[in-house]
Amino acid sequence: MLIGVLKEIYLGETRCALIPLSVDRLVKGGAQVTVESGLGACVGIFDSEYQKTGASIDSRSNILKNADMILRVRKPPIEEVAPLKKGCIHISFLDPFNEKTLVAELAKNNISVISMEMIPRTTRAQKMDALSSQANLAGYVTVILAAERLPKIFPLLMTPAGTIQPARVFIIGAGVAGLQAIATAKRLGARVEAFDTRPVVKEQVQSLGAKFVEIDLGETGQTTQGYAKSLTPEQLQKQRNGMARVCMQSDVVITTAQLFGRKAPVLLTKDIIAQMKPGTIIVDMAVESGGNVEGSKVNEEVTTANGVRIIGLDNLPGRVAVHASQMYSANLHNLIEEYWDKDSKTFKLNIEDEIIKGALITHQGTVVNEMVKNIK
Ligand code: NAD
Repeated sequence: MLIGVLKEIYLGETRCALIPLSVDRLVKGGAQVTVESGLGACVGIFDSEYQKTGASIDSRSNILKNADMILRVRKPPIEEVAPLKKGCIHISFLDPFNEKTLVAELAKNNISVISMEMIPRTTRAQKMDALSSQANLAGYVTVILAAERLPKIFPLLMTPAGTIQPARVFIIGAGVAGLQAIATAKRLGARVEAFDTRPVVKEQVQSLGAKFVEIDLGETGQTTQGYAKSLTPEQLQKQRNGMARVCMQSDVVITTAQLFGRKAPVLLTKDIIAQMKPGTIIVDMAVESGGNVEGSKVNEEVTTANGVRIIGLDNLPGRVAVHASQMYSANLHNLIEEYWDKDSKTFKLNIEDEIIKGALITHQGTVVNEMVKNIK
């Protein structure tokens, strides 16, 4: 089975899908791996390092045409679907809820597409969970960005020149990214508070040494996959009222609240931001999925009339591309190894398997994923 890995062409993408360590594992398992020339240049990996671990180097057009399996980070551009080998398996992030046309084109061309966003959240699938591996790094990056921009230091400092109080950091949304943001801000010495609508999170926040902000929203809860449920408009308003007080006292507010497959909830409205201190830094991690912060703009840093800076940068894991690539690559090799048949040296697409069932979007010419099929 020929596994082909393509260079990322999405503007500003700095990650690569596979690193030599993963090539080594796949080749030892009996796979043939071919990578596009320059694949790892963005993270300082030369073609020769891929060759040393057993990969061949080829052109993009040859890989598209010949590979039985294609790996990449970002979704394929629509014009690169038709050139793919019919029946090939394509694995990448896909954004399937917003890419109806692309999904239809993949089905039409008989490509079996595995969407990395759709890997189920089960214990067995944890090692393949790229949403989590990348969110973890994104959470770290949000804090580093804020720390660099804040005109204050994070830790408590007691010196002959006086005492400096620790910075106050408020993290909204304490999932994978939010928990890493809490841990990172704590390590830098900040005083950290956090809020999430899922009550189970309280203990995790406290175990990292942060304070959980109590806001009584009534019934909230989570899905079987551990994702937050949408709030009613009344609950959302209650949440905003509860958060406003904490935001006014904070030096940094980081929002990471997402709703799987849907637009992110708007949590920080213009009214709340208008009450915040000048110099406060807001990092909106959800900016790419609609934004948690009113007025945040993708890839911009907006300063409000009252001097609050809103950072809305995209692709946060791409800012630590070496480790993001390393983790994504491990997610991919773990996924491939899980379904690798050692005798035939091929990837067995077992459509009855619960992980494959969850993440497979198109197969044998049709859209097979129930969630994606039901998008209006
Ligand atoms: P996510 O990226 O979908 O959302 C981030 C956080 O935002 C979540 O904690 C969510 O509850 C929160 N949120 C949503 N609406 C909010 C609002 N109005 N206000 C405040 N917060 C809001 O979620 P995620 O980080 O990918 O993961 C969610 C949970 O799933 C986590 O608890 C994580 O530990 C768990 N998880 C489990 C597995 C597994 O079992 N294999 C894998 C990954 C994640």
